[in-house]
Amino acid sequence: MEKKFDSGSIVLFIGVLVLLAAQVLWLAPAPPAIAYSDFQRLLAAHEVDSLVITPTRISGELRSEQAKASLPASDAATFTAGKPPYAFTTIRVADESLPARLAAAGVRYRGALDSSWDSLLLAWIVPLVFFVIVWQFLMRRGGGMRDFMSVGRSRAQVYLQQATGTTFSDIAGIDEAKKELQQIVSFLCHPERYRRLGGKIPKGILIVGAPGTGKTLLAKALAGEAAVPFFSISGSSFVEMFVGVGAARVRDLFEQAQKQAPCIVFIDELDALGKVRGANPVSGNDEREQTLNQLLVEMDGFQPNAGVILLAATNRPETLDPALLRPGRFDRHIAIDRPDLNGRRQILAVHARGVPLAPDVDLEELAARTPGCVGADLANIVNEAALHAAEADHANVSMADFDEAIDRALAGSERKSRVMNAQEKVTIAYHEAGHALVAQSRAHCDPVKKVSMIPRGVAALGYTQQVPTEDRYVLRRSELLDRLDVLIGGRASEELVFGDVSTGAENDLERATTMAWHMVARYGMSERLGLANCADDGAMPKALTGVDGARPAARTAQLIDDEVRRLLSDAHERVMRTLADQRDALDRIAKRLLEREVIEHDELLTLIAGAEPAAVGAAAQPDAAQPAAAPQAPLAAGGASTVTAFAAHVSQRPGPPQ
Ligand code: ADP
Ligand code: ZN
Repeated sequence: MEKKFDSGSIVLFIGVLVLLAAQVLWLAPAPPAIAYSDFQRLLAAHEVDSLVITPTRISGELRSEQAKASLPASDAATFTAGKPPYAFTTIRVADESLPARLAAAGVRYRGALDSSWDSLLLAWIVPLVFFVIVWQFLMRRGGGMRDFMSVGRSRAQVYLQQATGTTFSDIAGIDEAKKELQQIVSFLCHPERYRRLGGKIPKGILIVGAPGTGKTLLAKALAGEAAVPFFSISGSSFVEMFVGVGAARVRDLFEQAQKQAPCIVFIDELDALGKVRGANPVSGNDEREQTLNQLLVEMDGFQPNAGVILLAATNRPETLDPALLRPGRFDRHIAIDRPDLNGRRQILAVHARGVPLAPDVDLEELAARTPGCVGADLANIVNEAALHAAEADHANVSMADFDEAIDRALAGSERKSRVMNAQEKVTIAYHEAGHALVAQSRAHCDPVKKVSMIPRGVAALGYTQQVPTEDRYVLRRSELLDRLDVLIGGRASEELVFGDVSTGAENDLERATTMAWHMVARYGMSERLGLANCADDGAMPKALTGVDGARPAARTAQLIDDEVRRLLSDAHERVMRTLADQRDALDRIAKRLLEREVIEHDELLTLIAGAEPAAVGAAAQPDAAQPAAAPQAPLAAGGASTVTAFAAHVSQRPGPPQ
């Protein structure tokens, strides 16, 4: 593969050389220049001949040795030695008497235009054409100038480690991901057991998670646990500027891997290679497409039980080409979230294993002070603290060293903005608690799987995740109303507890409004509007007050607005009542969130049940249709979950009601 790569640069290099040679050889050097006054003198002395006069220059020949000798020494020196005539040139000076004097001197002369064709061609057009070709060549590779500069620097490195030395004990806080990989380990160790029963092991596993959450670590540990070789390569290093190189590398990688089977192949930054094809029409990307196609071909080609397991990591799964995610390719996904409080404590413990800690060090407290930090950050903090202690020549690492390290790690890092102040934390906790409590107290809602106030994604600061118990295609009015309540729950909780509201509910309100609008204008769920479907061409409410060209007649539009508002304010009233009735439970959930950051389904039920048994709660409710702990189907795994997120800022567009 190296040969192909080099031949590309050699072609470029030779092209440049040829161009330079052409410039030197064919653009003959101009003859020596002399002063105009000398020219005049020599003309009068009949010492010049064969003049060619252009608008800017006069060139000709000196007839004799003496003429050359009569020039100032510095000019004379520029002439070549030898016999006359000597070619010379002079810059033309505005001189109206020149023709007369030429005639008087009786020399032959002719006029000419300034530039001759061949010099123009060589000096300008050829290089221009050449550079346009080179430029297009580079752009077509999709790399642009950056790749051009890095020619020869970025070679795809396939790292092969026969033994990674990493095991699952080096990973903490992501137990679910570990558990999922356990099965793969046992397959690699006892393949015959699986083959005998005809079981198929997934070929490709996609690990999704933010940078530094331990994706690479997980892949390495898998290889370490199974004691198989570990191939790793970065997706970005596949994509080089010359067509065919990446594809050849993929072929090569799989060839090597199959020879070493059983083994693990790990592709980091899969998104660099597997972006949706044809997404960028401006700069063609033949090279990336070819590489991606080759990867798909290889994945389809090898036997599922050949013992080669492909792992890939990405933090942007949404940009991947769908072909990569199809069955038989990367069809198994493992998501790694940012670690929660407990996870962070465990990760700190793993990294503090070899570090002598002072008695005052409290990992629990350190974990509490580093919300939003990922494994890599925590590893870095432990390391910084150890370095700090070593600098001061201390015997062990104290809490003061950790303080310093945390400050240093958080300073200047983007995550600083993620470290919320106390008031923000309380706001988010109550907001999410509101969503969760309302969701659990409505009969027609999906059960809450998880409530979290760990930053997730770009915008969300906290979120409540509901998992449906089954696939749904038709929703009843009562179900939609309950969903409306859940969306309003966050905002209402803030209102109830603080008597004040925050910006965090923007997305909730947007979704609630859209849902209410659909109920009124499309689903015929409002008595006042009746069965009319008032939405022509699926127009969405940009804002209820906005004048929207696609909206129906003004009177109907007014009616729709009124009904939407009524639905929302009714929901708000219901939710406020629910929350006020269960204020104790709300407080308990919020408090636990502040302590633990994450609450899972079972714990949430316990918290809600807490001091207020379900039967009493239901009896105390004036709205008897909504018992405190509604009977709900047991929690199902998988399925498309609904996430109600508390957003830092929201740029999502309203979607259809779920
Ligand atoms: P990613 O591939 O997701 O960007 P890495 O696997 O390269 O992250 O993690 C970088 C380093 O961070 C690891 O080498 C390890 O020291 C530390 N780390 C990350 N996650 C964990 C974890 N869950 N447990 C222990 N250490 C971790
Ligand atoms: Zn919310």
